[in-house]
Amino acid sequence: MEFYSLNKNASNVSFAEAVVKGLAPDRGLYFPEQITALPDSFFENIESMDTIEIAYTAIQQFVGDEIPEADLKSILTDVLSFDFPVVKVTENIGTLELFHGPTMAFKDVGARFMARCLEYFNRDNDDHVTVLVATSGDTGGAVARGFLGVKGVDVVILYPNGKVSDIQERQLTTLGQNIKALRVDGVFDDCQDMVKSAFLDESITSKRGLTSANSINIARWLPQLFYFLFAYKETKKLGKDLVFSVPSGNFGNICAGIVAHKLGMPVKHFVASVNVNDTVVKYLETGNYEPKASIPTISNAMDVGNPSNFIRIQQLFDNNFEDLKKDFSSYSFSDSETRKAMKEINHTSGYVADPHGAVGYLGLEKHGLQDNEYGIFLETAHPVKFLDIVEETLDTKIAIPEQIKEVLDKDKVFDTISKYEELKSYLLNDTDYKN
Ligand SMILES: *Cc1c(COP(=O)(O)O)cnc(C)c1O
Repeated sequence: MEFYSLNKNASNVSFAEAVVKGLAPDRGLYFPEQITALPDSFFENIESMDTIEIAYTAIQQFVGDEIPEADLKSILTDVLSFDFPVVKVTENIGTLELFHGPTMAFKDVGARFMARCLEYFNRDNDDHVTVLVATSGDTGGAVARGFLGVKGVDVVILYPNGKVSDIQERQLTTLGQNIKALRVDGVFDDCQDMVKSAFLDESITSKRGLTSANSINIARWLPQLFYFLFAYKETKKLGKDLVFSVPSGNFGNICAGIVAHKLGMPVKHFVASVNVNDTVVKYLETGNYEPKASIPTISNAMDVGNPSNFIRIQQLFDNNFEDLKKDFSSYSFSDSETRKAMKEINHTSGYVADPHGAVGYLGLEKHGLQDNEYGIFLETAHPVKFLDIVEETLDTKIAIPEQIKEVLDKDKVFDTISKYEELKSYLLNDTDYKN
């Protein structure tokens, strides 16, 4: 399949090129040339299919013949090696737990899929690509773990000093091998600015291939559509219409859900639940899209003032504002509402939601569910990732899962930088990547 740039000022590329480049040369996001609905029989028989068969059938048209069936299935087997259960919260609400992967963040699936695809494309050559990524928390850990030991790929992660949790910092700084952590004296926006400058700096890009590993990359973005199909498979027997509420920051996850709907999956409505970073909520109210500086919240993986994937959502609705509003809503919640919801969920069902999941729950509540509807909110991180907030809000202790224990007693290894010149000199002088 070919992918085109949404800025419409660059040539079409293959799946492999889109994955390697990340962003098109005209700075546009790549988008598939076509999205062909799957046959009705796929959705009729989905309960008899296993995870890999479902994922393979859904992603195959986007990959085309660039990765043969057996190799693609083996990549998917590797990527999808954990569970995605829908857990009952109330009579008509369930939560789709996406945190059972190696770093307990839903970004594990996209990061691992992207890593395995790059590995496949590099299998017979000595090409090197550097994945350069800024993280405010979960992306870095998932990317570091997903790319660990992958041939032909070096990873450089920038994170803000003191702004990520101790567990998140350990997940980035304790792996070694091809993973390099740079601690930035500054905030997340400073990290992001340095990464953007590096991508635009020809003195770097002429010497060293750079790519990004956030959800602008199609290999990070598209596999997220599997979650929605897995949830559909698991809840089909209820015979109800599904309403999905997705805690959203860059809107990659919910956008992938809309792709699953385009593939023919029945969905009644999509709710993008956000914290006070409400650019899209305001857009749906006024028709004016006005990006803002991000505001820090307790659901910090969603502190995004200019969601990069929203343009893909608009494209999925052929840029028709009225059509978008029929299938898609967005609601914003404050930190105090989020904490209140965490308590309410815990009191009524015993379920421990992290702040992001709680925002998702609030979105379903605000949207309201009819008798024949079943609401699913996506639980995007294990509560242990936001340990202090969860323990303090619910006045409880959370058991530390194995995946997290593993990193707790390892030493952090990182370099500290404070300005762009230091990043540049690191990227130009680091010779490890050439061996
Ligand atoms: C990244 C992230 C989100 C937001 O996902 P988008 O695809 O950027 O909308 C929500 N919750 C958690 C825990 C995340 O790490």
